[in-house]
Amino acid sequence: MHTDGSGLHVVLTGAPGCGKGTQARILKERAHICHLSTGEMLRAEAQKDTPLGRDLKAALDRGEFATDEMIIEMVSNRIDLDDCQNGFILDGFPRTLPQAQALEKILVQKGIKLDRVIEIQVPDEIIMERILGRYSCMQCGQGYHDKFLKPKVYGVCDVCGGTTFARRRDDNRATVQNRLVNYRMLTYPTIPYFEKEGLLSCVDGTGTIESTAAKIALVLGLAQKR
Ligand code: AMP
Repeated sequence: MHTDGSGLHVVLTGAPGCGKGTQARILKERAHICHLSTGEMLRAEAQKDTPLGRDLKAALDRGEFATDEMIIEMVSNRIDLDDCQNGFILDGFPRTLPQAQALEKILVQKGIKLDRVIEIQVPDEIIMERILGRYSCMQCGQGYHDKFLKPKVYGVCDVCGGTTFARRRDDNRATVQNRLVNYRMLTYPTIPYFEKEGLLSCVDGTGTIESTAAKIALVLGLAQKR
């Protein structure tokens, strides 16, 4: 099918910390399609000193979800923009059954076919260790980990040479526990929904970043990188 990835429309789903963001960034480069992270959109909004920004900041700090109405409108408007016309990866959306149903309607209205929903599977014990150790470059967003992925030179980003790094405010034990509960309760029901639609593929996300990326490429029928 899409051997170069153009025209691909993909949902990456799975528990927090399963590697959706990392894999979406790799797939974006490989397939030249847009990476839409609802978490990143919400974090940008939460930095604003507005009533919405303050509400969102409080919700994100507790590991609670934004409302379906708001997030559905945000995604629907975002995929109309020019940079999504060659395809997109949805990272972190849909996160509830109503969001999954709304996505289906939105795509029908816009004449877009969803190619695949990929669930990246990682057990909870591994997730906590991954999330509590992760941080990223404040300049280019490149992700690192205290134990599994350190910059080659201490304190210097491999990609852009930046020297300032940050951890996400919601990457603390209490909030991650809440995010995992919300994942099981609210997001997990979307998995059988997509399975019934014949769209679901599951990928083991416990290996290296590269091995998971190769499995995703295989599922999507993308040509192997040389
Ligand atoms: P993420 O960057 O995907 O881990 O998302 C960070 C946080 O943003 C989540 O813990 C939720 O609180 C919120 N969030 C992200 N995507 C959604 C969504 N589709 N619906 C509701 N809340 C979301």
